[in-house]
Amino acid sequence: MAHGHTIPTVDMAKLFAFRGHKTTIITTPSNEPLISKTIQRTKDLGFVINIQILKFPSVEVGLPEGCENIDFVLSLVENGTEMMNKFCLAIGKLQEPLEKLLQECNPNCLVADMFFPWATDAAAKFGIPRLVFQGTSFFSLCAGESIRLYQPHKKVSTDSASFVIPDLPGEIKITRKQFPIIFREEVQNDFTKIVKESNESELKSFGVVVNSFYELEQAYADHYRNVLGRKAWHIGPVSICNRGMEDKAQRGKEASIDEQECLKWLNSKKPNSVIYIRFGSITNFTDSQLKEIAIALETAGQKFIWVVRRNKNSEGHEEEWLPEGFEKKMEGKGLIIRGWAPQVLILEHDAVGGFVTHCGWNSTLEGVSAGKPMVTWPVGAEQFYNEKLVTEVLKIGIGVGAKEWDWLHGDYVKSEAIEKAIRRVMEGEEAEEMRSRARKLGEMARQAVEDGGSSYSDFNALVQESRYYGP
Ligand code: UDP
Repeated sequence: MAHGHTIPTVDMAKLFAFRGHKTTIITTPSNEPLISKTIQRTKDLGFVINIQILKFPSVEVGLPEGCENIDFVLSLVENGTEMMNKFCLAIGKLQEPLEKLLQECNPNCLVADMFFPWATDAAAKFGIPRLVFQGTSFFSLCAGESIRLYQPHKKVSTDSASFVIPDLPGEIKITRKQFPIIFREEVQNDFTKIVKESNESELKSFGVVVNSFYELEQAYADHYRNVLGRKAWHIGPVSICNRGMEDKAQRGKEASIDEQECLKWLNSKKPNSVIYIRFGSITNFTDSQLKEIAIALETAGQKFIWVVRRNKNSEGHEEEWLPEGFEKKMEGKGLIIRGWAPQVLILEHDAVGGFVTHCGWNSTLEGVSAGKPMVTWPVGAEQFYNEKLVTEVLKIGIGVGAKEWDWLHGDYVKSEAIEKAIRRVMEGEEAEEMRSRARKLGEMARQAVEDGGSSYSDFNALVQESRYYGP
């Protein structure tokens, strides 16, 4: 119940519908309006896609009415572990109503996000397969599993000492500081508990659907299946199912800029001259970090679209994060969007030549699908793994040098490092080489989802195999 999970889930649901399957999205009252808007065009085309609503027990666990998304939780209390714990508690209470719904709807298969570990048992009660939607790359699934199995972080003496992730193709090095929180034993809360349960429930489930494509991370897709022994199907990039302009523009939340206005701005710029900056749906940098970004954008001398998320706590002080007169000075050169951007629409525009990203998997894959090189700035979750895939394996990105995991604010990065990374991705021979590799991957992504492509075929395999499911 966070945009980074619901957006690809809705895309995936559309994919099932487009392929002729009767599809039902289960959601909660506050999340429903945006989803129903997003799927309306799919319905209008005659595909069978519907919504079923489960009441979310926010008030019962001490959350405000309507608090049904991480976005809302974070707008209440910045970094609030107590609120997160309540949110996790409320999620756990959805099992019973879900089972009632399964009884009524009698589906053939249940796809549920990793954050609903109990969904495997719920599906088993009705003799149907449960597929886990992990929402990340094969690379990070493999890296996380290697670390869980071999515990290499326990063999180094300091948090900043790097070590090789064992039994993972490539010599991939990481430090303890860049680890997702679940590997830090000192941190135990309801959220880390769900993540641990999700690992166990994945092993009992029918398998994992991965939003990726084989050609992108072949070695890791093979490793996940053949070495780690997991059952998985790659069916992505799911965002490519959005073919029309409105479908691309209306994902997640209502955009804070009119899409025509945005396109008009981009149309007035030369190809590959604009850098797009956005750090996903929950990252929230401090005012001083935003100032560093502004300074870097000015000194790097590139045109830009910069999307800034401000939470409710900061409202009214909005302009403190910008150097004085910045927006006026940048008129025509830079566009600042406060709130939500039509990301896929922007990324796919020819004028956009690079993407500064936090390496959330959806953003990363959307960048790849659009054929854009990236400036990588991982913040939290499994983003440090994704950064390694982009910079070291695919070689289509340059890191800003973020060294420390922090789930919302990230590591502090100075303007000089940001400027340098932007220049390297936008100017010169190295940039051209990265762009050319990224472009090829973008073409492969499109081919993967076309009739006969690797993701198209794996989707068919998934449907076939699920037909033979027997408890
Ligand atoms: N997104 C968007 N507009 C925004 C910010 C984000 O459309 O202004 C979408 C983005 O395209 C992606 C998702 O939100 O599909 C963010 O997911 P990601 O995994 O990149 O990051 P998270 O939000 O989970 O950290």
